[in-house]
Amino acid sequence: MHMSDSAKRYYRKHVDFFRLIEKIKLWPSRKGTLHGIRSINIKGNYAEVITHCGESFMIYNSKSSRAARWLRNKWVSNACPKCKIPAWKLEKYSTTYFTEHYGSELKHKGDS
Ligand SMILES: [Zn+2]
Repeated sequence: MHMSDSAKRYYRKHVDFFRLIEKIKLWPSRKGTLHGIRSINIKGNYAEVITHCGESFMIYNSKSSRAARWLRNKWVSNACPKCKIPAWKLEKYSTTYFTEHYGSELKHKGDS
């Protein structure tokens, strides 16, 4: 699949962390591996995440957390082989940018 420049997407840096995670469905581990998120179950200020490779853990809604920073700055070195993240999803992530003054705030998505 070819992605043109118009496929680039921009999110605001201060975008809600959970909404962002829900949207991109990727999770950076402490070792710099990108995992695919199978499900995210938000419970107030924290959420239970299950990856495609079967890991489950709790995350906290913090824009300044390690994971949030890693996602924004793309400090990931490889993709989890077990999660089998499709190439288009990695491509989409690689064309996603986080900026201070421009981009979607992900605020108008339905809450249903
Ligand atoms: Zn994985």
